[in-house]
Amino acid sequence: MLKKTSLFLVLAIFLFQAVCLAGSFSPDDFRYSVLRSSSVTNYLHMEFRLSDKNTKYTLQVNPENKRELFLTISDTKLKHNNLKQTALDGEFADKISFKDDGANIRAVISLPYDADQADYKAYMVDNNKSKSGNNVLAVDISKKEVQKSVSPSLQAVAGHVIVIDPGHGGSDSGAVGPDGIMEKNVTLAVAQKVYNILVNNGATVIMTRTTDRDVYAPNASAVDELQARVNVGEFTRGTDIFLSIHANSFSSPSANGTGTYYYQYSPQGERLASLMQEEMINANGLTDRGTAAANFYVLKHTSMPSALIELAFISNYQEEQLLNSDDFQETMAEAICRGISRYFQGS
Ligand SMILES: [Zn+2]
Repeated sequence: MLKKTSLFLVLAIFLFQAVCLAGSFSPDDFRYSVLRSSSVTNYLHMEFRLSDKNTKYTLQVNPENKRELFLTISDTKLKHNNLKQTALDGEFADKISFKDDGANIRAVISLPYDADQADYKAYMVDNNKSKSGNNVLAVDISKKEVQKSVSPSLQAVAGHVIVIDPGHGGSDSGAVGPDGIMEKNVTLAVAQKVYNILVNNGATVIMTRTTDRDVYAPNASAVDELQARVNVGEFTRGTDIFLSIHANSFSSPSANGTGTYYYQYSPQGERLASLMQEEMINANGLTDRGTAAANFYVLKHTSMPSALIELAFISNYQEEQLLNSDDFQETMAEAICRGISRYFQGS
């Protein structure tokens, strides 16, 4: 028969363990990254390092706000009891805020779109796979596949691998127009539209950058920066074409028009440049500066057919306004994609 004192001791140990088992969590135990699950599908991957692998958790939509997911981590408290917010990638989720109700962590994940457009799941990472041996709860968020709308004039891009290089970025603004519009923002906006159109039509598209950043490093040498862009083309498996997007600039504010460049020893690059140039001029009505051979670094050092587009002159006030407009960017993106499709079609 168990004595009263031993019973008390057992109870005390049990209680002590129960207290110790309640995990603590600091926002330092949190990290996230954007991963790629196949050639075109990216997703947000978040990891929460927990004290106990048997911790219970739930992930559900806020019934009162479809743009929020609630992540509850049971029997876990925040080490510092103050609310902490962490910005996330911005594409799949905006931010996560950690709260603690005294017993459980209640994290709110804010989405830039309704949760019904997302696929999301929470799961414990297999301990054998976690190198650190930590207990890691993971949350993955991706966007549901949207219905693809294949356009007949673009169907030849399907199945091809296209690398798009939005010129400049980060510490390098590129040329700046009289109204302060920066080339790096225009090139990214057009590249993103090109990306969307090509992906919707079945192409695999890789961007050298998807945000306002340097591809190599801030303030790097031109060669390092440009080689980093070339590398994306060279190291992506099966790259069919490499396309760099820029805006032109000249000391005289009246210089204007659209032009496309290719590497002189690449007849295929020349053909790609001509087809895109023709489509852009037909669509935008600007001065046709034609195509020309040029020794631009990204043209010379890419082994696949490549072309460099100068959309219009950002140094020309009227064209700067056009370059900054969503309509013009869309028109140019569609024209570029029609040119690419004709290239693959062989017409
Ligand atoms: Zn440029």
